[in-house]
Amino acid sequence: MEKTRHSTTPLKKSWFIPKNESIPHGPGEKGEPFYLPPGLELAKDLYKTNGYNALVSDFIALNRSLPDIRHPSCRSKKYLSHLPKVSIVIPFYNEHWSTLLRTVTSIINRSPQQLIEEIILVDDFSTKGKLKEPLNRYMSDHHTKVKIKRATKREGLIRARLLGAKAATGEVILFLDSHTEANVDWLPPLLEPIAIDRKTVVCPFIDVIDFETLAYRSQDEGGRGAFDWELYYKRLPLLPEDLKQPAEPFKSPVMAGGLFAVDRSFFWELGGYDDGLDVWGGEQYELSFKIWLCGGQLLDAPCSRVGHIYRKFAPFPNPGLGDFVGRNYKRVAEIWMDEYKEYLYLRRPHYRNMDAGHLSKQKRLRRKLGCKSFKWYMENVAFDQPVKFPPVEPADIAKGQIRNEVKNVCLDTGFREQNEKVGLELCLQNDTKMLRDQNFIFSWHKDIRPLKRNLCFDVSTPERGAPVLLWNCHGMQGNQLWKHDEETHQLVHLTTGNCLDCDFNLRKIFMNHCQNSSISQKWTFEKMS
Ligand code: UDP
Ligand code: MN
Repeated sequence: MEKTRHSTTPLKKSWFIPKNESIPHGPGEKGEPFYLPPGLELAKDLYKTNGYNALVSDFIALNRSLPDIRHPSCRSKKYLSHLPKVSIVIPFYNEHWSTLLRTVTSIINRSPQQLIEEIILVDDFSTKGKLKEPLNRYMSDHHTKVKIKRATKREGLIRARLLGAKAATGEVILFLDSHTEANVDWLPPLLEPIAIDRKTVVCPFIDVIDFETLAYRSQDEGGRGAFDWELYYKRLPLLPEDLKQPAEPFKSPVMAGGLFAVDRSFFWELGGYDDGLDVWGGEQYELSFKIWLCGGQLLDAPCSRVGHIYRKFAPFPNPGLGDFVGRNYKRVAEIWMDEYKEYLYLRRPHYRNMDAGHLSKQKRLRRKLGCKSFKWYMENVAFDQPVKFPPVEPADIAKGQIRNEVKNVCLDTGFREQNEKVGLELCLQNDTKMLRDQNFIFSWHKDIRPLKRNLCFDVSTPERGAPVLLWNCHGMQGNQLWKHDEETHQLVHLTTGNCLDCDFNLRKIFMNHCQNSSISQKWTFEKMS
């Protein structure tokens, strides 16, 4: 009896480790923004070569403090008292010295030492001298668990990660970027789900380190990773059951990319990354699809947070390999997406004839592992993805001129730009309506846009008299969501509940309280679909 009870309730403990942090009021402490004193010319150069303000980083302590922005219930969480050891793999290409060192320092200071097998830095054939001998010396002086592997040619991010993974000896491999900061108690929440089930892959919440000031903040309340049919990374809302347990890991269809923990033997059972993928791009889909289809699962752990500097721009030139991202996407689509690959080709017809290299080895792997179909994935894992990103875009609701029902006036943007008002003009004849921009689409997103322009009717305040502005279409409804009332013919702005109204004499468009009988609120579309 005693024995069974013990094995069904495994021992848990707090893994929290006391702080080893710098002076309380220094630059960037507690993740506060830091602003450079004026006149530092060096700042511009360093910005250009890194895509973020690297000089700001030099002012901030390597062991700066960060705010604990996790859900409060994370603070008292206990984890299995026995957790696997981890090899942390960090590829870098010409990373800035202090951001690279802060990455390593934050890991060392905020992780239980007994859980770290090693930290493997993979130099992807960087050209900066400081990242060679001086880095070796710094690490052997300060951090004995750090090993440095060096590629003998530029491999790109995907093969650099593989190089580090091959050298890893820990039970779990954890990949990070070279400009990240691990936050309080970040490691146990990544390892526990793997200790429970070795085919579970776990991602931390990725926080934003501002590229200008290195301020630390969350990106949102959390979301499930997904994609649209051009294979841009997107997010889906958390499910009701996820919201009920805000400190528990939840299932995610796709990982964001660079930051995740995986059982080492499971990673290699899956064949690691497809080594036919070049440089970067698409690898997060390849691995995520493979995990879900071939017997594993992918989780996001809200109590594990790691900050990442999202660059303002990519500082490296294309290495002269043409459209490698396109070729990578085609490989992923051909190998894993079955009949759903057609939705990608629909939007990117030129991929069809692109040479994406040999696929047979990867297809054999898929057969050998007995992986499920992509249809299964779409129906069981990414089941709500098509609602937000329909594979075939539905027809638009209406198009053409938007006329007042009584007077001969039409909505007209006069080809105005972002943040300018929608206006009112005399309706032009059909053959000339393009001249004044009276041609609109009431799209399936339920937003209203001038034809062939990515601008939408946008209302941001509920007052009477608020203007209707043109703003970049975000496709997320909200303040760009409209309804055309079939009976009263009013154009209702749903978040404010107001109606589109006009002043015939002043030729002005504005928002107003809805009044069914008001003729200045009655609009018809030239053509309903
Ligand atoms: N990296 C690399 N080789 C490359 C490009 C990038 O080793 O050719 C490293 C880079 O230093 C970083 C990680 O791969 O640690 C991810 O790259 P990056 O941060 O540029 O991608 P992003 O986060 O901007 O998508
Ligand atoms: Mn990065």
